[in-house]
Amino acid sequence: MAFVVKRLRCTHSASCVCLKGHITEDAIYLVFEHMQWNPKMIAAFSSVCKWFDELAKRVLWKKFCHARAPKMMKDLHSDGSHIVDGNWKALGKLLIYCSGCPSARGDLFCNVYDPIPGHFVYRTRFSRTLGKSLLPPQSRSDVVYVSDPCEHLDQGEDGDLGLFRGIFKSFAASDTKKMLIERQAKFHPNEVCPYCKTKLWDLMEQNMIPRSAAVKLGADDGSVEYYVCLNGHIFGSCTLVPISDSEDSIQETD
Ligand SMILES: [Zn+2]
Ligand SMILES: [Zn+2]
Repeated sequence: MAFVVKRLRCTHSASCVCLKGHITEDAIYLVFEHMQWNPKMIAAFSSVCKWFDELAKRVLWKKFCHARAPKMMKDLHSDGSHIVDGNWKALGKLLIYCSGCPSARGDLFCNVYDPIPGHFVYRTRFSRTLGKSLLPPQSRSDVVYVSDPCEHLDQGEDGDLGLFRGIFKSFAASDTKKMLIERQAKFHPNEVCPYCKTKLWDLMEQNMIPRSAAVKLGADDGSVEYYVCLNGHIFGSCTLVPISDSEDSIQETD
């Protein structure tokens, strides 16, 4: 009988360097736990081969999300919701990456005329209260977490640009999604979600963004736009009220 050496073998990529087989999942788990689920390391190792990318999607990004935003993760999964299961990589990216704006000439956002590259963000605050201010009155019972705007100075058509991102809890069962379906809202013809690559609905086109959004974001009235994807990720833009204006208004009221 032939002697069979049993080993974990990477069969997914011709360019994979793991020719002699992988170390076990348990060992990788311990190494990344020691690195406190460092997202840059997870991303770097994910690009090595598909086997590792699958492990990262299933285990490592999930651990990172729970370590980075424990309360938000707990809330997103309360009520038996499993909406983010299988999308841990996308959610991990959402937590640490401002997507910029890939499209120029106002194709995605009216106030963006030149493409803005995405970038890593060390820490971002995500708020349910801010999220609520972005929802139309008919869907205020939905829960959505939205980041403070990432400031891109002098990049908007009319001044400083704020880019924000976020995620719905249980988007599949949300009133917002129901409204979009009832209105037969159309998807953006060519752009996709920067986090999970699914199609996007434009909430400004549907007149679903209330005036409270601009107030809470510190933006010009009527300048807030955002999209939501099929998995409930949000990304949007607004024109930030110039700091000098707010200083003037403080002096005027003194
Ligand atoms: Zn940014
Ligand atoms: Zn998405």
